[in-house]
Amino acid sequence: MSTVADPDPLGASPARDREARSPRATARAGRYADPAMAPRRRRSPSPSSAPVPAGGGGPAADGSLAAATSEDLVRELLRRLGEDPSREGLRKTPLRVAQSLAYLTAGAAKLPKDVLNGAVFEHDADEMVVVRDIEVYSLCEHHLLPFFGRAHVAYLPRGKIVGLSKLPRIVDCFARRLQVQERLTMQIAEAVEEILAPAGVGVVIEAAHLCMMMRGVEKQNSRAVTSCMRGRFRTDARTRQEFLQILRGPTV
Ligand SMILES: [Zn+2]
Repeated sequence: MSTVADPDPLGASPARDREARSPRATARAGRYADPAMAPRRRRSPSPSSAPVPAGGGGPAADGSLAAATSEDLVRELLRRLGEDPSREGLRKTPLRVAQSLAYLTAGAAKLPKDVLNGAVFEHDADEMVVVRDIEVYSLCEHHLLPFFGRAHVAYLPRGKIVGLSKLPRIVDCFARRLQVQERLTMQIAEAVEEILAPAGVGVVIEAAHLCMMMRGVEKQNSRAVTSCMRGRFRTDARTRQEFLQILRGPTV
């Protein structure tokens, strides 16, 4: 038997943002070998007053850019695009862009365990659990343009299950970062593996990338599909087939 569930409506709450800055969220960053996997500490909760991190040794060496607010930087970017940032339609754009980018990358300061809110339960059945068609919105780290689509997450419990609405939260935690789809897929699978120690995990993401659709090859109908199979999903073809069969089935 398989369980297929619709995810909770997506969305963030102020409580989740407070969680993001807990000491726990930063203290554990050291165990990630790949820096992209580690939660990132934000400099300031307020994008309008946030100093811009000077990392990368770019042109901030003289401190001029490092001292600028995110809003200043967006205003300057608008000027370089040939716009007049003081015209009415653009007057509040720097603030909106700064706040929007802060929101869209807020997952970088979180650990998946922080979004679970303790919703891991003992459970001795071992049937496959699938949450299908989880909406994904992320930003490609190469162009800062959105990619979006659906994630499907499955696992085979081994003593522990997680509240079904928490799988979309885990997806969000990793999607709200600068990403590539391949890494996003892997990080979701690894998080489920780490939290539940299941007999297997399967994650499939299908997404459309605006950087391919609006620029570059300008292919509007192509979709990238990535998958990450761990444990029995990797070693047992029948388990994998059952998962893929569920993904092909009708939606409710
Ligand atoms: Zn891109």
